[in-house]
Amino acid sequence: MGIYFDEIGNLFGKYSKNTEKEESVMVGSHIDSVKNGGRFDGVVGVMGALEVIRTIDKNNIALKHPIELVAFVEEEGTTFGSTLLGSKFFIDEIKDFSRYTDDDGVFILEKAEEFTIKKDYKKRGNTPIKAVLEMHVEQGNVLYSENITIGVVTNIAGVNWLSIVLKGQSNHAGSTPMHLRKDPFPTAGLIINEVEKIAKNCPFSDTLVGTAGSIKVTPNVTNVIPSEVEINVDVRDISQKGMDYLVTNLKEFAEKLIEDSEIELFIDVEETAPPIKLSDKIMNIISEKAEKRSFDFKHMHSGAVHDSSLLAKKYDVGMIFVPSIDGISHAPEEATEYEDIEKGANVLLDTVLELST
Ligand SMILES: [Zn+2]
Repeated sequence: MGIYFDEIGNLFGKYSKNTEKEESVMVGSHIDSVKNGGRFDGVVGVMGALEVIRTIDKNNIALKHPIELVAFVEEEGTTFGSTLLGSKFFIDEIKDFSRYTDDDGVFILEKAEEFTIKKDYKKRGNTPIKAVLEMHVEQGNVLYSENITIGVVTNIAGVNWLSIVLKGQSNHAGSTPMHLRKDPFPTAGLIINEVEKIAKNCPFSDTLVGTAGSIKVTPNVTNVIPSEVEINVDVRDISQKGMDYLVTNLKEFAEKLIEDSEIELFIDVEETAPPIKLSDKIMNIISEKAEKRSFDFKHMHSGAVHDSSLLAKKYDVGMIFVPSIDGISHAPEEATEYEDIEKGANVLLDTVLELST
């Protein structure tokens, strides 16, 4: 296999023994991890792809299309503060690199150059892509709890991040009477409560999830009335309509809350990833292959974002999930039975062969 890289450090290995077509079938995932993460998230997809290529080579299977293994960098966003950087670069969506530096102030491109030049890799160039496949651990408890081995991913949930800032007036907690306070904290509490209420009671979507995941209180001192509270909310659904429902209703609720008070409200919505529908054609192939091998499978959506979310904007993409034991991920206890990984890799192999022969 020829080993290549691109400027941001994504690594590619191309297997093109006797292939006649130029378009490649891309298979892989990411190999970076969150801090204190596990050994399976991402790695299962890269090792699975490598095993698929080894198997094809060992058995001398003739291919029409080359198979391209990919290991994306910076999927988790741990080092440079932004998720999906490798795949974002790959689909040409990074316009300004200057914001991406690590804790030592080193730019992402410098870092990438350092390790790719050292290894003397060649540049990938612009080989066209026929389809993309990613095998990944589910990172949830659906497959494991239902005792099903293969998840055929239909959609990947989109993500919106909301920053809600409430401003009041800092003052002494002892000497300021209740009726003379501008305390934003109780209002923040009601908003947090409402996030859960709205997400639980959406009349048309049972895939909508909302999480108030962080809060910053200023000055955060027990005997001082806070001057400012910032809540950060994570909103996800497989349809934009569901995400909009939570965002709109929460905004209305918060605006109404502060209407007759002196608290100021600032809401900022940042779209981090759009909801994505994966390729029907590839979904059907994956299901067919799982069925042929008599593995239990089910169609399901992914609540977590993956490199595939971005790649699906440009290419035909399919994703295979394997069970996470007890649904645990992004923790040292993260694990998947090797037997399940083997089954997932076999479905990956069959799907790759269908697409490349
Ligand atoms: Zn991952």
